[in-house]
Amino acid sequence: MEDKSGLGEQVERRARELAALVEVGRDITATLDLHLVLERIAHHAYRILEPDDCDLYLMEPSGRTMKAIVSLSPYAAETMADLVYVGQGIVGYIASSGVAEMVNDMLADTRAIQIPGTPDEEPQAMICAPLLSKGQVIGAMALSRVGERRFVQADLDFLVSLTQQAAIAIENARLYEATRQAEAEARQRADLLSALHQLALDISSELALDRLLEAVVRRTRDLLGRDVGGLWLYDPAGDCLRCAVRIADRPVVTGVTLRPGQGLTGQVFVSGLARVLDDYWSWPGAEPAFASEPVGPVASVPLIWKGQVVGVLEASGWQGSHPFSDAEVNVMSLLATQAAIAIQNARLYDAAQQRAQELSIALTQQREIDHWKAEFIQNVSHELRTPLALIQGYAEMLNDGDLGELSAEQRKPITIITEQARALQALVADMLAILRAEAQAMRPEPTSLADLIQAVVDDFQGLVSRSGLTLETDVQTDAPLVKADPRQLRKVVDNLLTNAVKFTPAGGRLTMRVYPHQDGACLQVSDTGIGIPPDQLDRIFERFYQVDGSIRRRYEGAGLGLALVHEVIEAHGGWITAESEGIPGHGSTFTFWLPAA
Ligand code: ADP
Repeated sequence: MEDKSGLGEQVERRARELAALVEVGRDITATLDLHLVLERIAHHAYRILEPDDCDLYLMEPSGRTMKAIVSLSPYAAETMADLVYVGQGIVGYIASSGVAEMVNDMLADTRAIQIPGTPDEEPQAMICAPLLSKGQVIGAMALSRVGERRFVQADLDFLVSLTQQAAIAIENARLYEATRQAEAEARQRADLLSALHQLALDISSELALDRLLEAVVRRTRDLLGRDVGGLWLYDPAGDCLRCAVRIADRPVVTGVTLRPGQGLTGQVFVSGLARVLDDYWSWPGAEPAFASEPVGPVASVPLIWKGQVVGVLEASGWQGSHPFSDAEVNVMSLLATQAAIAIQNARLYDAAQQRAQELSIALTQQREIDHWKAEFIQNVSHELRTPLALIQGYAEMLNDGDLGELSAEQRKPITIITEQARALQALVADMLAILRAEAQAMRPEPTSLADLIQAVVDDFQGLVSRSGLTLETDVQTDAPLVKADPRQLRKVVDNLLTNAVKFTPAGGRLTMRVYPHQDGACLQVSDTGIGIPPDQLDRIFERFYQVDGSIRRRYEGAGLGLALVHEVIEAHGGWITAESEGIPGHGSTFTFWLPAA
């Protein structure tokens, strides 16, 4: 009878436990919150096995100690404050053996150690089972009863079943938490990347320094979700830090300058190291200039460019806001690195802009001067023309004997007057020509360079032979017609040939060539004259430029001919070059190119 009822009780108990296990399983897998899972496991064990204490331990990452995460006991605080070393005490022993145990007389067990702060010498019974996951002990559950109430094997079996379920639920919750954390970190990283990207975009599109600085501060403040953002720039001229931007949700102090070393900003500037304060006003170095601001936590990072601190980026929160984390300071350092580069770029851009403006002013002034110069030359030339014509006319009449016979002494001076008056007239004509060329509209038409040099050769034949020179031509018949104003072009060739005659001593040879070249044609005038020093070849096309040299002093001219040639050729969309070795007898070669018609 007794047996039967004992058996019946056992069966009944087993059924109750199984039902409880199913319920526990359902309950603890219903949540993925690790702490909640642990609490529910402990409460189910407490309800079913009715101990006085029920403690749930988890292994710490070192694998050498465990900590009670849940403790249902009158000494919960003490238990949770204690560290259980693997291998020490009964719970520690089971954590190292991995085998569940029932100890019904703890006072007699040599392994037993007392948790500090709990009463000693109390008879106690205990069941303890490890939490195992993939063969590893990840924690333990220990239930104890004070006094004479013992545990039975069935209690231990039940606890083992419960810890098996618990281990699975714990692992699941941990996996879930790890995933969630990874997700949150990824999101944070993505936010940071997108902010940095946005900043890079702002920076590349913003070259005006003040707008750029504001963009940097705004982004920093937004990204960190802080109340105040600020940026300071070092001013080498005043050896001070100037507040460039400060942005906040309420009015803040601006326009402050700090000495290097003054306040947090000044100290970060000097050290070149980021610094964080959890409460600004309890820091002895707090700057009185900001007395009106209830600032709490502050983070300050240097702006470094090429190893030099050029400024300081700051963020702060009003009192009561949370302190800055390492992650936030890292983000600020990243932003500061980008900002420092951008600031230097903007400064370079500003400097370039300023230089461009100065150049443009200088250019305008130069144009004005040119204009007045031209006007002056024109006026003077006009005024000179009539008196010169009269002087020359009378000089020629005198020279020709129209006004009576000249004595031998008179003849030479009169001849000089006549020649010099002619030279002066030629000069005036040159000056007027260049100004007219400038003012005149081009009338380009298909023009044959071959015909042009033929006409020139005919006209120059007399001068050339009088000067004791020979003139050759070499015309390639496949040279295309060029697009040019024939009258202007004639002036160009006349000038080149006049120079060739002028600078080539008797016995020399002049050559004119025409040949096709790159969608157009070239005309070349070369001589075997005195040549031009190579270092002056660039300058001979400037107005009034003449190669300086004692031998050249005997040549007439105003240095305007080649300037006219150059201006006309350029106005036609062509180019002109001068080549010479600067050796007398080797001569010079002038070549111009014009586009085909
Ligand atoms: P200029 O009226 O003085 O000849 P140009 O403008 O025609 O002025 O020429 C400028 C200077 O270039 C000349 O003074 C001369 O020194 C040099 N030059 C020009 N053509 C030749 C040449 N064919 N051979 C040597 N020097 C030349």
